[in-house]
Amino acid sequence: MAPKLLRKECPYCGRSFNTYEVDKHYCSQECLAKETYNRHFHIVKEKIKKTCRHCGLAISSISNKSYCDVICRHKANNLKYLKGKPKKKTPSTRKKKSYDQLNREEEYRRLYDPFHIERIIRGKS
Ligand SMILES: [Zn+2]
Ligand SMILES: [Zn+2]
Repeated sequence: MAPKLLRKECPYCGRSFNTYEVDKHYCSQECLAKETYNRHFHIVKEKIKKTCRHCGLAISSISNKSYCDVICRHKANNLKYLKGKPKKKTPSTRKKKSYDQLNREEEYRRLYDPFHIERIIRGKS
């Protein structure tokens, strides 16, 4: 039988990890060693107070979230996005007309605008 992949949360650092070992409780040897050390010397691990990176609200120290809420995460990401992307000068959307197009327009005016030539003569075009 294939081993079942288990999703666990390390009680030392709070990170989630996947393991096939049923009796594995810590995400890494480091966390296990630290926890063992703390227990041996009866050191109570100080719970790291986590705060939302955006609004500063306290969040559960065991969770690996950085923001209290999805909204905060979105807001923070938007800020990052805006900061990281300086406003570029938007190139003019108006394209320069090609000579070909200008010629065609001129041709069109010449054919269908009876006063066009007159205007050119008078210098009022
Ligand atoms: Zn850990
Ligand atoms: Zn927040």
